Amino acid sequence: MQKTTYETSSTIQQGWLENTRRVPSPHYDQRPDLADISLLVIHYISLPPEQFGGGFVDDFFLGKLDPNIHPYFAEIYQIRVSAHCLIERNGRITQYVNFNERAWHAGLSCFNGREKCNDFAIGIELEGSNEQPFTAQQYEKLAELTQQIMQAYPKITPERIVGHCDISPDRKIDPGQYFDWQHYFALLNAV
Ligand SMILES: [Zn+2]
Repeated sequence: MQKTTYETSSTIQQGWLENTRRVPSPHYDQRPDLADISLLVIHYISLPPEQFGGGFVDDFFLGKLDPNIHPYFAEIYQIRVSAHCLIERNGRITQYVNFNERAWHAGLSCFNGREKCNDFAIGIELEGSNEQPFTAQQYEKLAELTQQIMQAYPKITPERIVGHCDISPDRKIDPGQYFDWQHYFALLNAV
């Protein structure tokens, strides 16, 4: 059977996706070992919770969320976090942090006995929640992006792609019950 090939619209150059929306966040610092990038963490986020498309994830990752807009924003606006990338419901990808830098997305975490996963992980957020399925466009773009990341950072293998819930099981449930790992890996194999 012939493999499906996706049109690869961008490549990673010096840690940045080419031809991709870029919104630099200050919520990162230097990785202890650049050669150690070896884990991919999948998250979900929606701001306000269960609402999509408002652009508030940009504000949050930039530290510019307005606490007066929504009661939930007042709770979280001072938290300094950012993933490397966000994939919105329509499949649009935004990159906030250079992959070679340590984005602050995983928090307290442990993978295979090793803590501080941000040191060696890349974090991707899907715009979503635990109440609604993700979109076909999100899966396609996630598979394509994952392939690009694996090419640039070959220590990230399929066995080293996890959910936030896997590395912070006491605190986190994302990417949640609707994230279809089987579908994701099927697409990934087909890319
Ligand atoms: Zn998360």
